[in-house]
Amino acid sequence: MLVPSPLAALAPVDAEVPAEPLAHETASDRIRHRLMRAGQRYHANDNIAAYVREGELAELRSEVEGRLREVLHALVIDIGNDHNTADTARRVAKMFVDEVFHGRYQPAPKVTAFPNVSRLDELMVVGPLAVRSACSHHLCPIMGKVWIGVLPNASSDLIGLSKYARLCEWIMSRPQIQEEAVVMLADELERRIRPDGLAVVMAADHYCMHWRGVKDADAAMQNAVMRGAFKQNADLRREFLGLLRKDGD
Ligand SMILES: [Zn+2]
Repeated sequence: MLVPSPLAALAPVDAEVPAEPLAHETASDRIRHRLMRAGQRYHANDNIAAYVREGELAELRSEVEGRLREVLHALVIDIGNDHNTADTARRVAKMFVDEVFHGRYQPAPKVTAFPNVSRLDELMVVGPLAVRSACSHHLCPIMGKVWIGVLPNASSDLIGLSKYARLCEWIMSRPQIQEEAVVMLADELERRIRPDGLAVVMAADHYCMHWRGVKDADAAMQNAVMRGAFKQNADLRREFLGLLRKDGD
């Protein structure tokens, strides 16, 4: 007999999305149905802030807390009597929703762009910016650094130094895949700055490699995205990478 995959049951087809919110719907149901009605993707590293209404994050937090209590229960941990884990579900729910994954639920940070009045057209390097993220596969921490190279033109918009860090944090505070995280960050910066060239380099430790799996303590991953002038001009690329090497290690 063919047993249907439990995942298939979790991926409702359009016909199953109620047109109106139902009375018994949880906050996650309501948000999910809004996303589905709008045809919006809601993968782990997508931002869904536009589909979350006032007050729903608090509801989501308690829903997650309840589910985490079930996970602890399934792990045969006596949360009723073990004083260490009595409050763990609440702490982890808050950590997920408000802290380490807040980049899924909060709108983009306010970033003011300035016109490039001095008509700067020289290579700018920003970094290293600290990266604190988590892998989508195991929800294990990813800790690393990001460097950004920008080659502006006279009509580019410039953003303040601290805003690079805010945008980077917003993108990384989601369950991520490093290869996709650098592309997301590059897209976001390119859209806002409209430079002639943009480069993003990320180097990070994946704790799923240390804590579990191959337990390779030295494993780190490096990724680079090169756009526009950085892709076409080998000298510019060399200059950028040379600057990283100097302050990198
Ligand atoms: Zn992993």
